[in-house]
Amino acid sequence: MAESMLYKKKLEGKVAIVTGGASGIGEATAHVFAKHGSRMVVIADVQKEVGQQVAKSIGLNHSAYIHCDVTDEEQVKAVVEWTVKNYGQLDIMFSNAGIFSRSDQTVLDLDLSALDHLFAINVRGTAACVKHSARAMVERGVRGTIVCTASIAASRGAFQKTNYFMSKHAVLEPVRSASRQLREHGVRVNCVSPVVVASPMSYSAFGMDAKQLHEAFEPRSSLKGVALKAEHVADAVLFLASDDSGFVNGHDLLVDGGWLDTNTTVW
Ligand code: NAD
Repeated sequence: MAESMLYKKKLEGKVAIVTGGASGIGEATAHVFAKHGSRMVVIADVQKEVGQQVAKSIGLNHSAYIHCDVTDEEQVKAVVEWTVKNYGQLDIMFSNAGIFSRSDQTVLDLDLSALDHLFAINVRGTAACVKHSARAMVERGVRGTIVCTASIAASRGAFQKTNYFMSKHAVLEPVRSASRQLREHGVRVNCVSPVVVASPMSYSAFGMDAKQLHEAFEPRSSLKGVALKAEHVADAVLFLASDDSGFVNGHDLLVDGGWLDTNTTVW
């Protein structure tokens, strides 16, 4: 049988929004969504030029860039409304935009203004995306899926980087509550939690390039010889966004090669 006949597209005809889709995990996921037959992948980000470039590389018949700062609820609402108006409905929200703080420290030196900034993007942004995508799905009777990006930082206490850890713990809550509240509408809400991925965020957070990151984290990985890539995370998001996970709801899917299970230290 021809390979093309064996290959099943998992998101045929679906309309998706990817926040933070201009870079790293979001960019990889936008490509995977398109590869799996999404009718439209909307890249919602604050980086106009690279975001437009990602949409172009997918193909402008199947992707578009829209400026959206997730800290501003009105902008999130507007992207959802624009998507529904132009493409009829919203099937998938991947709420992924997020930041890390390089200056983040222990509780003894907590910088609370940095905490506010992290929460505005990582937590408030997630809440706005969940709220407005859920409304669009429920109002139109769409049995959609919402996936949010937390982190392994949501599963442990921090040795440093306390603000970031707090913000990622707070991503789990809207996922858990929304999954309970929306299941009567057939909308599923899940979370993906990666360990350290080679992406612009990690290069800046750890002050390392891809090779240095791999050398620093691989020895502690339980998957010897495998460097976690944004594409591994994208495949996990695809699973949660598609019917392959049809009965998975309110789940936090670790993409860590078993790392958390074998390490008590995070960073
Ligand atoms: P990245 O920096 O490559 O991409 C993040 C994207 O979010 C960028 O395109 C950026 O422009 C966008 N963004 C930032 N602030 C925004 C805002 N206010 N509104 C809209 N978009 C905004 O980083 P990444 O590694 O791909 O991170 C994606 C997500 O994964 C984040 O939520 C991050 O916390 C999480 N995560 C990353 C890692 C890692 O090691 N890189 C590990 C676990 C979780």
